[in-house]
Formats: sequence, C-alpha cells, structure tokens
Amino acid sequence: MQKLTENVYAEVGFVGCNPGFVVTADGVVMIDTPQRPSDARKWKEIISKFGPVRYVINTEPHRDHFTTNMYFDGVVVAHEGTREAILSTPVRQLVDYIGMIDPDSKESLAGYSLRAPTVTLTQQLNLYVGKHSFQIIHMPGHTPYQVAVYIPQEKVVFTSDNVFGKVQAWLQQALPYDWLESLGRLKQLDADILVPGHGEICSHQYLDEMSGYIKDWIDAVNAAVKKGMSLEEAQNTITIGDRYPMEVGTESLAQVVQRMNIARLYQVLKS
Ligand SMILES: [Zn+2]
Repeated sequence: MQKLTENVYAEVGFVGCNPGFVVTADGVVMIDTPQRPSDARKWKEIISKFGPVRYVINTEPHRDHFTTNMYFDGVVVAHEGTREAILSTPVRQLVDYIGMIDPDSKESLAGYSLRAPTVTLTQQLNLYVGKHSFQIIHMPGHTPYQVAVYIPQEKVVFTSDNVFGKVQAWLQQALPYDWLESLGRLKQLDADILVPGHGEICSHQYLDEMSGYIKDWIDAVNAAVKKGMSLEEAQNTITIGDRYPMEVGTESLAQVVQRMNIARLYQVLKS
C-alpha cells in the first residue's frame, strides 16, 4: 500500500484494479474494491484501523472494480450505468471466475452476492464527508460509464480506467473520442497525483502520453479501415498493443486484449 498524501492511500499491487481510500474526519471513503476476496480481507483489515467505511465509490462497470463490494460497509455510489451492469452480472459465472483467480477463497464463496450501488449519478455528484469533498464526475471513455473521483483538498484524482499507468490499455467498450475529451478534462483538474485504474501512480504529465496512445490506436485502426482491410486483416496487422507490458497477472491475455481492442475500434470507427 502507498500513502500518497496526508489522507489518501492506494494499492497498485493487487491483481485487478488499483483500489484506494481517503481518511476523513468522519470515516473512510473507498474508491473501488479489490477483485479477489483474499485481497479484500487484507484491505478491510488495513482500512479498519482508519475508521468506519462511509462510502464505496465504484469508478466503472467492470468486475475487477466491484466484485468485493459486499465485503465492505458504507453506501455504494456509482454511475447509473455501472449499477445496471452490476445488477445484470450473472452471479454463478462470477463466482466460478473468482474461484479460478482466487482459489483460497473458494470455501468462503458459498454466500456470495453482488452489492449494487444505491446512490447513482449520470453527470456529477458531490459528497461531503468530514472536511473533505469528493467530486464524482462522469467521464466516458474506457466505457460509457466511467467516473473520476476528484478530492480537491488532497489534490488527488482517481481516474478510473481512463488512465492505464504504463500498462496495456483495454478498449473493449471504448468510446475513443469521448475518451480523448475526458483526458483533456482530467488535465484541467487541479491535482498533483493521479491514481489510474491500473498500473503506476502518475501525475498530469502522463495524461499527454495516455492521450497520444489512444490517438495512435484510433489512427492505426482508421488507417486499416481506409485501406479496406477486413477486421481480421486489421487484427493481424496492427501491433500497437506491444507498446506497454500487460499488467502483472494478465500476461497470457496480451494477444486476446490486442485483438479485442482492435475489434472494438473497428466497429466504432467503421460506422
Ligand atoms: Zn475496466
């Protein structure tokens, strides 16, 4: 776990997203939950030393951000689209998946259930907890339902998977042009530290690199479409996914992610 400021902590070492939390004068606000129950138990023990959990904010609709919501107290907050995604997740399948990525937790999964957000937003929601404010801002990109969590008192923003810190980006549900716009909006926030959804903690400088990467993805697939390539030809030709390593624990998925990213952009850009 890294202490990022006086009151902000994050973990970049779990398999799954980078969860974080903020300690306020009136309890803890969590941003995302670990993917594996064994990590959630560790995380819960750490957090309990800082106070009761008041809120859990899920930054997006992918399972690596919400799987262990039920292990934590507090009101769950997310974009309306993330609530819908959680409610429509097939629980049986998710339990099988968790058992696979976290064999130690198998026995404890008997009573597993999903915990969906009970407070949602579509544009922006501000939470005031203790002396802190949390601006939860809709920023479509990696999916249509991403939110950034900006904490002005700490000059920190949790970006969701709109930023991948020097690791391969997943574009399977991307809105590529909205993504570029959202990266521009992140740049305008007065923050010293950015906690990406995956990969290394970074700062504003990295946003240009991230935008450049998304632009290069768009250009590469656009060029393939213009040349009249079929999706399969594009998938066999474009190698832009090799620029960054896969996140630890997902190495075997490199080709799958690359092909998936190209398929999504091909579909969006061709239409
Ligand atoms: Zn994601």
